[in-house]
Amino acid sequence: MNHFHYYDHKLETLDRDRLRELQNEKLRLLLREMGGNEFYAEKFRAAGIRREDVHCVEDLQTLPFTTKSDLVAEQAAHPPFGRLLSYPLSRYRYLHQTSGTTGRPLKWLDTQESWDTWLRCWGYVYRGAGATEDDIVYCAYSFGPYVSHWAAIEGARGIGALAIAGGGLSSELRLRSILENNCTVLLCTPTYALHLLEVARRNSLDLRSSAVRITIHAGEPGASVPNVKRAIEEGWGAACFDHAGATEVGAWGFACEARNGAIHLNETEFLFEVIEPATGRPAREGERGELVVSTLRRAGMPVLRYRTGDLVELGTAHCTCGRTLAHIQGGVIGRADDMLIVRGVNLYPSAIDNLIRSLPYVLEYEVEIRRLAGMDDLHFKIEAARGSAGDPAQGVADAFRAQFNIRIHVERVAEGSLPRYESKARRYKRVPGA
Ligand SMILES: [Zn+2]
Repeated sequence: MNHFHYYDHKLETLDRDRLRELQNEKLRLLLREMGGNEFYAEKFRAAGIRREDVHCVEDLQTLPFTTKSDLVAEQAAHPPFGRLLSYPLSRYRYLHQTSGTTGRPLKWLDTQESWDTWLRCWGYVYRGAGATEDDIVYCAYSFGPYVSHWAAIEGARGIGALAIAGGGLSSELRLRSILENNCTVLLCTPTYALHLLEVARRNSLDLRSSAVRITIHAGEPGASVPNVKRAIEEGWGAACFDHAGATEVGAWGFACEARNGAIHLNETEFLFEVIEPATGRPAREGERGELVVSTLRRAGMPVLRYRTGDLVELGTAHCTCGRTLAHIQGGVIGRADDMLIVRGVNLYPSAIDNLIRSLPYVLEYEVEIRRLAGMDDLHFKIEAARGSAGDPAQGVADAFRAQFNIRIHVERVAEGSLPRYESKARRYKRVPGA
């Protein structure tokens, strides 16, 4: 046994053939449970497939993909939940919704058994990061109708840790709670972890000497973006871990203590495919593609061959943690619809974030995107630390020139004038072109 922590050592290190057998078994069970799910019944009928004829993962690949817009349209056509439930409503206990940043929020329900899936998935996230029952976990979330907030805190309790809900508090009060209660694990978005550092500096609170030893993040690629990760780790004096998930899917990925910049795909609870976004064909080995996920155990409201919109690259090397589960290198690279084309260069916000976070004098930034002649023109607003040497705006422009060979406009704005974010940052704003 090595020093790595596992949630289920046997499952996580299973021989790949045995893992596939197990996935096939779980898939057959799931399909049997889906009798009441009219949405998928219709999808199977339209594809000319009988549910009972699907015996293995390969058989499932004849079913067309499910997209987020399919789900949104389904709930609009058959309000409030769509015909997406496998069981009568009386069997459900949990109702959450997506934030709806890209349109109408999705409502997602869980039975007790489905909720237990969430807790298992979070078990992998926590144990993967090395958290144990001795940890005190602080969830710096609003605790609104969002599943990740509740699954995170219940998942912490699921591994036996002491868990604190930090909803309804100012950033300063959250920091005081983290320090007073000797919290050892912090959960929040990467953006908010950086914001808390700023608030701590203003209040002369020393977070490096706090008990926090692990930070766990999702909701944005940040914790897999090297310079964001470094800034969080240096500021908090803690090891920073990324994980990935979605309301309609579950917490599907987690980072391990090998700390090699990869996220493991939780193949004990989900099936994964990586496809070419344009054609839907399987991506070639080592090629960037869109992640497609099928739930194996969340039978109450499952998704099959769901296009996440997340761009990923499968890793090929074995992970030193000993897990046989597949992994994606560099976490979620971005969302297919987030890509910017700036003077002919394809650019993801995560790459921009990585560059900005290598410039310690930039406190916060915002980007206006103007579409000009089919290309995106970027106008940056930055807040710079007081007493920054030189011209910070010029510094950012020069760094872009050096790294991406593109010219951008940079404007320095007053400290504190740009918004700060508790959850996902919305730093990119489309404005009408000239
Ligand atoms: Zn690993």
